[in-house]
Amino acid sequence: MLTLCLDIGGTKVAAGLADPDGVLVHTATCPTPKSADAEQVWDAVEAMIRDALRAAGGAVAAVGIAAAGPVHLSSGTVNPINIPAWRGFPLRDRVAAVVPGVPVRLGGDGVCMALGEHWLGAGRGAGFLLGMVVSTGVGGGLVQGGLPYTGRTGNAGHVGHVVVEQHGEVCSCGGRGCVETVASGPWMARWARANGWNAPLGAGAKELADAAAAGDPVARQAFRRGAGALAATIASVAAVCDLDLVVIGGGVAKSGPLLFDPLRAAVAEYARLDFLAGLRVVPAELGGDAGLVGAARLAGL
Ligand SMILES: [Zn+2]
Repeated sequence: MLTLCLDIGGTKVAAGLADPDGVLVHTATCPTPKSADAEQVWDAVEAMIRDALRAAGGAVAAVGIAAAGPVHLSSGTVNPINIPAWRGFPLRDRVAAVVPGVPVRLGGDGVCMALGEHWLGAGRGAGFLLGMVVSTGVGGGLVQGGLPYTGRTGNAGHVGHVVVEQHGEVCSCGGRGCVETVASGPWMARWARANGWNAPLGAGAKELADAAAAGDPVARQAFRRGAGALAATIASVAAVCDLDLVVIGGGVAKSGPLLFDPLRAAVAEYARLDFLAGLRVVPAELGGDAGLVGAARLAGL
């Protein structure tokens, strides 16, 4: 029987049906409503669930949910920073009411991305994996021995808010100098503009990557700066957790060697402890499906 998987973020809601091998046999997405009304956002999610159930013939084995965080696993509630309408929203219970009689498991989207990559992507075989998503924000999750490492409330691996600049910019989390304020796409583009990148109106991370690839010195410096902040984060988390593998996905990671060359060089510079000698940093393989695949995995654990 198929597993229903959901990936709910600030930009889009994705629903999928996965077979027991993790193959997605159905996927659909819709934009996340920008409403301030919790129920309007929920209505879009419920419609996606009902469509997927119809596609499954009415019954599924289990449901896995990857939700933008913070999440709270014991209560099944979510407080996504980028879905302001949902504060303490009882997501797990609401989903369970639509799909009664089957197990419903909730996880953070970063944890699910890491689980998906560990199951079927670039993280296969890793002992202790950090999965990171570098796009409009910086997200992440940890998988140890094939199982999600969730911490006390479910939010372990929230690496976007590792502080890399003590006196840095104010972050969306309310803190200051988080790696997200240096290495996420919008922040890299903002820094480049402030430092003389002559970009067309509305240009973002994609245009910045194009400019860097074409040799623009400010754009290249923005990538080196972002890569350095990511490397500091990776080296720190690797030392804390004794990681063997870091898998990086998301839009910014699509820029390939532009990001990974300076990133690996900086990781080699920072991660000098002997137990980190084998630490590898690789691009993700599952693209935008990692969260759905990981949610399906979570549902089957
Ligand atoms: Zn932050």
